[in-house]
Amino acid sequence: MAAKRIYAFGGGKAEGNKDMKDLLGGKGAGLAEMSNIGIPVPPGFTITTEVCAEYYKAGQKLPKALEPELKAALRKVEALTGKGFGDPSDPLLVSVRSGARASMPGMMDTVLNLGLNDATVEGLAARASDPRFAWDSYRRFVAMFGDVVLGLKPERKEDRDPFEVILEAKKHAHGVKYDKDLPVEALRELVSEFKAEIRRRKGVEFPEAPQEQLLAAIGAVFRSWNNDRAIAYRQLNGIPAEWGTAVSVQSMVFGNMGDDSGTGVAFTRNPATGEDEFYGEFLVNAQGEDVVAGIRTPQKISELKERWPEVARQLEAARETLERHYRDMQDIEFTIERGRLYLLQTRNGKRTGLAAVRIAVEMAEERLIGRDEAVLRVEPEALNHLLRPVFDAEAKAAAAKGGRGLAKGLPAGPGAASGKLVFFAQDAAAWHARGEPVILARHETSPEDIRGMAAAEGFLTAFGGMTSHAALVARQMGKVAIVGCGAISFDYHARTMTVETAAGPKVLKEGDWLSIDGTAGEVIEGRLDTRPSEVMAVLVERSLDPKDAPTYQRFAKLLSWADAARRLRVRANADQPDQARVAVAFGAQGIGLCRTEHMFFGEGKIGPMREMIVAETHDDRRKALAKLLPVQREDFRGLFLEMAGRPVTIRTLDPPLHEFLPHEEQGVAQLAHDTGRSVEEIRAQIADLVESNPMLGHRGCRLGISHPEITEMQVRAIFEAACDAAEQGVKVEPEVMIPLVASVKELDDQAGVVRRVAEDVFARRGRKVRYLVGTMIEVPRGAITAGEIARTAEFFSFGTNDLTQTTFGLSRDDTGPVLQTYLAKEILPVDPFVSVDQDGVGALMKIAVAGGRATRPGLKLGICGEHGGDPASVEFCHRIGLDYVSCSPYRLPIARLAAAQAALRERAQEKKVAAAGSAKRARNGKAKPAGAAKAPARRARNAAIGVPRARKGAGRRPRARA
Ligand code: PEP
Ligand code: MG
Repeated sequence: MAAKRIYAFGGGKAEGNKDMKDLLGGKGAGLAEMSNIGIPVPPGFTITTEVCAEYYKAGQKLPKALEPELKAALRKVEALTGKGFGDPSDPLLVSVRSGARASMPGMMDTVLNLGLNDATVEGLAARASDPRFAWDSYRRFVAMFGDVVLGLKPERKEDRDPFEVILEAKKHAHGVKYDKDLPVEALRELVSEFKAEIRRRKGVEFPEAPQEQLLAAIGAVFRSWNNDRAIAYRQLNGIPAEWGTAVSVQSMVFGNMGDDSGTGVAFTRNPATGEDEFYGEFLVNAQGEDVVAGIRTPQKISELKERWPEVARQLEAARETLERHYRDMQDIEFTIERGRLYLLQTRNGKRTGLAAVRIAVEMAEERLIGRDEAVLRVEPEALNHLLRPVFDAEAKAAAAKGGRGLAKGLPAGPGAASGKLVFFAQDAAAWHARGEPVILARHETSPEDIRGMAAAEGFLTAFGGMTSHAALVARQMGKVAIVGCGAISFDYHARTMTVETAAGPKVLKEGDWLSIDGTAGEVIEGRLDTRPSEVMAVLVERSLDPKDAPTYQRFAKLLSWADAARRLRVRANADQPDQARVAVAFGAQGIGLCRTEHMFFGEGKIGPMREMIVAETHDDRRKALAKLLPVQREDFRGLFLEMAGRPVTIRTLDPPLHEFLPHEEQGVAQLAHDTGRSVEEIRAQIADLVESNPMLGHRGCRLGISHPEITEMQVRAIFEAACDAAEQGVKVEPEVMIPLVASVKELDDQAGVVRRVAEDVFARRGRKVRYLVGTMIEVPRGAITAGEIARTAEFFSFGTNDLTQTTFGLSRDDTGPVLQTYLAKEILPVDPFVSVDQDGVGALMKIAVAGGRATRPGLKLGICGEHGGDPASVEFCHRIGLDYVSCSPYRLPIARLAAAQAALRERAQEKKVAAAGSAKRARNGKAKPAGAAKAPARRARNAAIGVPRARKGAGRRPRARA
């Protein structure tokens, strides 16, 4: 039997439910669920995402079999509403809306008032006893259909919407300012003029037959899955192209039937701050798109009860029902038709990082959700939002005093941003690409602007409310944003923005500096200094007492719940004591990578380093190294003391030596002077060290093998520092890590140096410290021969930066132009230098894990490439059984949360597998063997990394110290 293509809802029941998002899209699933739980929803039906796939497979044609199903579905809606589709006496009008699995606000298309034509408009006028309303609906429908279905749109960025131009001319001709003041005749004329414009510019007739309108609109909504802004949004949010969209067709209710009608959108909690308050806005006598398009600035939801107390009460009740039912903050759309309330949509609301943390923590405290669920609710990346700076209070006060405070708007995206003013999204992207911070300012930001919005530090709009689509997207991207700033206006052609300030109009040009405070909604002229956020002030600056920092408290609480749930440990990549201090404050359980090369650039270090590199004799090299030894020792001692007993992985020198040499005249002359050589000789030596591809040249362990004395010096510094720290009573656990190992023999060579020097230091100092010698796995050969390498290595740390570069054969320094094209063409789903390429690089990692642990069951495994702070990569590392991830100190909160989510998801999966197993056994009449619950999931994981089933070692592996 062919799959069901259409699912009906309405009249207090539905064929679908909230768990069918994959098939019905978020909107379709939400409408079905609302119908099921007794929320008033206008009846309709949803065409599945599978039909979208069929549509594309057939070369953008709707399947023939859809038509009879569509007719049957319409009959049901007709029966529930008592109206007829195309019936000139009492016409059923419908909306046709997109709805993907994941919400993509405003990215795809919608058609409203479908079913109107020259005959049905008269029926609508008679039924509503309001010809003006009927013709207004009709002209809106023709414009929307012309735009979305027939493609009559502005052609250049400076152009206006062609229907708007005709409308403006009509208003001008009638001497009125607002659409609502146009008389019926003018609206009738607009319908004819819109149709004529379609004919003139598109060469097609506007279709009068409602069935034809419906089929065309469904096709157009499917096509909108692949419009530019939807593609851009998918790329920014990692949404797969194959998902497709569902289409919901729903009977229209009208918010524009007069002053007893209206429409609005609301959040069940504040989406910017997370505060538990009903938060939204509405417009009287308007259609839904008027609110979300942000063209009219609406009224606050709190004012609803003054106008319609009964509706306000019903809406409040719906708020409670929906929050309790979904156990999450909901974003709802509603319409009031002649005093009667309908809900048109509910979905989990987009929120800022600040709000996400607050809502999750408070809902757990209200016992609406459990702590684990709270941990799963917050996108790890959202935590970044809580670390972002705010404007320095003094700088802001000084700006206000100096008359630079320009205007106020609605605070749609909290935080502080300064940048150069641009007026077009394309410019925002281009200026950003050349390294300029920009603030994008516009009348309103439309979804078309998505790429520019992603590039901007923040944005500012003249129109629109807190729930305009642009504000939603701003919050989701974590951008600073102010909307509805009525004091600003634009001349796009002149590229200027005029602000009506208290002191009179002020004109700002493209490129002028502007600052926006998205928390207070304040627009300030010029560039402003920032200061740390509450979390940073507590943890890093230590300038704020945690008890005076409610945001910090919620952040810390959520992370403590995450820490209780995770298995993976977290470490930081840190090279200096101050970084280590920050790392510990953010929860580091060790240092996963100290890049010793960074230490050589400190005060008084680069000179001896250069002398060492250009030394002509062994003796000279040793003399230079002797100067470096004490400074390195001091660096390591600082790290050990700061880490207070936590493990510290220190990598021996990795980059090619020429990176340390001077390139400018003055530096060359200085080095010649310091070494008593001629400038020419030094130049010749620098030239000798140049490599064609230094990323694959004389670097990593190859350096230490060619110049063992460098390794010796570094290792001596490490162990002397360790002994010093131990003498000061601090426990130390150094892990010496050899980079870029491809063969066990390379590691044997360097491990030999490490152990020899360690023993020598211990003998001289009369004390021993525990240490490990291990390696980075960062070239394919290292991964493939990991079983051999683990004979010597006591730990592996995946250097996924290099492993990605060497697996792809793509130089990590030259990825820019290649990756841009690859991502645009969807050849790669994400930048593999940001998120582990699980099929390729990940496969090598699995080989290395299996090989390494087969040789040495207790082998400690970690990752220290940039991927260690990427949530998807952290989850992958959890799945393949690593012991820890290491990332930059500021990404530690993200890693902690991502690690917890990975563990919680795995547990949920294990439970599911166990439940399926017991159901199967119950069916077969067999009892459940004790302790079997986790076995299938563990087996699946082992199979994933290639551990043979018969081998029991992996299961018995002692819990690794990390
Ligand atoms: C790596 O290659 O992933 C790594 C951590 O080392 P580096 O980035 O210093 O080469
Ligand atoms: Mg590397």
